[in-house]
Amino acid sequence: MSHTAEIIAVGTELLLGNIANTNAQDISQALSSVGVNVFWHTVVGDNPLRLKEALDIARRRADIIITTGGLGPTYDDLTKQTICEAFGRPLVLHQDILDGLKIFFEKNVHMNMPSNNVQQAELPENCTVFDNPVGTAPGCAFEAGGVHVLMLPGPPFEMRTMLENHVLPYLRGLSSEIIVSHDIMTFGLGESPMEELMREKMSHMENPSLATYAKPSEVRLRATAKAASQEAAEAMLAPVVKEVTDFLGNYVYGVDVPGLENACVKLLKERGLTLATAESCTGGRIAERLTALPGVSSVYRGGVVSYWTSVKAAVLGVPQETLDTYGAVSEQTAWAMAEGARRITGADIAVSVTGVAGPDPDERGVAVGIVYIGLSTPDGTFCRPLDLGGRRRDRIQDLASNHAFDVLRRYLTGLPILLA
Ligand code: ATP
Repeated sequence: MSHTAEIIAVGTELLLGNIANTNAQDISQALSSVGVNVFWHTVVGDNPLRLKEALDIARRRADIIITTGGLGPTYDDLTKQTICEAFGRPLVLHQDILDGLKIFFEKNVHMNMPSNNVQQAELPENCTVFDNPVGTAPGCAFEAGGVHVLMLPGPPFEMRTMLENHVLPYLRGLSSEIIVSHDIMTFGLGESPMEELMREKMSHMENPSLATYAKPSEVRLRATAKAASQEAAEAMLAPVVKEVTDFLGNYVYGVDVPGLENACVKLLKERGLTLATAESCTGGRIAERLTALPGVSSVYRGGVVSYWTSVKAAVLGVPQETLDTYGAVSEQTAWAMAEGARRITGADIAVSVTGVAGPDPDERGVAVGIVYIGLSTPDGTFCRPLDLGGRRRDRIQDLASNHAFDVLRRYLTGLPILLA
């Protein structure tokens, strides 16, 4: 049986716009991974009457209600009490939770537990307790009249920890079916062209299903199967993943790979090659994404953020004549930056980016969004010219970084550098 969930985020701060409702986003993403449909997000302030109204509406249209926030010890934390009243469940004191809270305070806060924290040890009768190893408020779940009510704390880190450790196992336990997904990661086709290309295929697919998700500047296709066992789900998914991967060809950079940089580092390691970077308009984004990966030091030698023309010349050795003749944002400068980075670091390959991220054109009048990706390799130096105009500065920077990784990935897998 498929389940329908409503997420109720409790907190006046959310309504005032002081904070974004990231918990709802995280919960929705997690629920889709276990095949639970989320049809409603509700936000309600720290007000028991309105929370009660929200619960009354939610229980009529969803069979899983997940709340976040309002589990703390202060006077405005009323989620638990209000839910218990709405569902006719008494709150009971859990001595083991109270003992745990006292130890938490002694160990982490070096003080005796304040008396108002006692209420955090009170939970609905006959509930499943979700312990909170990273905070004080435990969460819980109970079932009443066919509706599962799950209460999670508001602080995002506590909420996410509980989601992983308790909520997903709890929800998996509601269904005899196993849900397995694989992500086919693509770069080079926007979301709309991808949807157009895949619409026909996707519309016929139910189990496994296929859906597109746009990450910033790339598109992920998620194939999901429901079956009685992991093996059965995997057997259903394998031909779909193969068919889609074959169909999309060079646009696919991996299956279940977190990002383009991961794909590149894996390829560099497999081929025993080292990399250097020379960045201008991306300001170190490429280096940052590389160095976020543990173990990357075996393949990444380093990089230069050469923002000023004088730094391109003095540090990377871009000839002044090249800069004067073609400008800092040009194919020739991208080549010379990559060659310079390779020379000064001794890396096997170097990738470079020079471009205009905006909001204004550069001093030579080169338009916003014009970007050149250079690649210096033992087989020669290459360039991918791009026009990323019509986008915001940070989007241009992100997209340019992704193109740099894509150029690298394509070189390492023997594909043409230029996109068709
Ligand atoms: P506490 O024990 O800290 O009081 P709580 O469960 O009562 O936890 P709240 O007091 O409602 O949670 O929220 C605590 C903090 O968590 C908020 O100040 C806010 O920073 C963050 N937070 C709450 N709800 C959300 C949400 N839906 N999305 C993102 N952050 C949230």
